Amino acid sequence: MIDIVLPDSLKPADGRFGSGPSKVRPEQIQALVDGGEYLLGTSHRKAPVKHLVERIRTGLAELFRAPDGYEVLLSNGGASFFWDAAAYGLIEHRSSNLVIGEFSKKFATAASSPWLKSPALVEAPYGTGAQLTPVAGADVYAWPHNETSTGVATSIKRVEGADDGALMVVDGTSAAGGIDFDASELDMYYFSPQKNFGSDGGLWFALTSPAAIERIERLHAASGRYIPSTLDLHTIVTNSRLQQTLNTPAIATLILMDNQIQWMLGNGGLAWAAARTAESSQKLYAWAERTSYTTPFVEHPADRSPVVATIDFDDQIEAATVSQILRANGIVDIDSYRKLGRNQLRIGTFVAVEPTDIDQLIASIEYVVDKL
Ligand SMILES: *Cc1c(COP(=O)(O)O)cnc(C)c1O
Repeated sequence: MIDIVLPDSLKPADGRFGSGPSKVRPEQIQALVDGGEYLLGTSHRKAPVKHLVERIRTGLAELFRAPDGYEVLLSNGGASFFWDAAAYGLIEHRSSNLVIGEFSKKFATAASSPWLKSPALVEAPYGTGAQLTPVAGADVYAWPHNETSTGVATSIKRVEGADDGALMVVDGTSAAGGIDFDASELDMYYFSPQKNFGSDGGLWFALTSPAAIERIERLHAASGRYIPSTLDLHTIVTNSRLQQTLNTPAIATLILMDNQIQWMLGNGGLAWAAARTAESSQKLYAWAERTSYTTPFVEHPADRSPVVATIDFDDQIEAATVSQILRANGIVDIDSYRKLGRNQLRIGTFVAVEPTDIDQLIASIEYVVDKL
């Protein structure tokens, strides 16, 4: 490997720009130390951990400005487990899925379960966005708020002309806490905590509308479908209301999550967070546009993600080499999504990232390219 040493003056204060897991703020680590004695190593069935879960649930509802009756569910497994849970207990007959990258494709695959009718797919080339259109008989419409594999963000709007009672189910995994939206436009907004929330993986959360709860309870009572207990949304609703999970959660993950939610709320909530991610990502897109050897992968500015910036490099410069050299200098996890296979850097500009560190990152990339 080519040995290039970055001058300290160029280095970001924090070199973590991954798209998940992502930067954890020092205050979050301190919260683990502080919470160590009375939370870590104690029962999740007892008051201290249940209070922590309650604070997270009410904190998220406040952050998302939850409309009346919406509630926050949580369960073990991360967003990938939510897809399977939805196939068992949320989709009644058929879903309509937007497929614009690897993550949205995974939900479409889960929704192709043998007991369901094949999903109606709307596919668009990776790097572009698209919107779902009404399909008679579709009872769930599913799309990602941010497609993390490509860096495309979508808008949150109910599908006009959808059947009565159809649910809008949005993958907010990498968007939640970093992009503003109107929660009344959706029924479930599910996500894992290792992106904007700077926590660890292994749990999922979902802001859930009364209509979605009603669907979950109706399918539980009437579908006659076999549902494994760990993926049973009915059980997840019951446990969440008791500030619990069916089986043991990672308490450290909850502490990190709680600290981040309180940090966001204390700074001005989702509008503040969204302005910050927009500022960081905009620096990268503007740089990629004015630099001779880079272009934003996502052509249309309106589709460009504020939380995951994908930057293509000219053939003459190997992005993977740049990323490798930066990694040796403490700037990590900015490789392109492995299955996308592009000559690209993918940079997480989540809310924890300091916009000034994006300036330093850009200077660092330029330094390396100049030396190559
Ligand atoms: C990271 C990610 C997932 C997967 O989350 P897991 O916690 O690994 O299951 C799903 N969807 C999107 C949009 C993501 O960014």
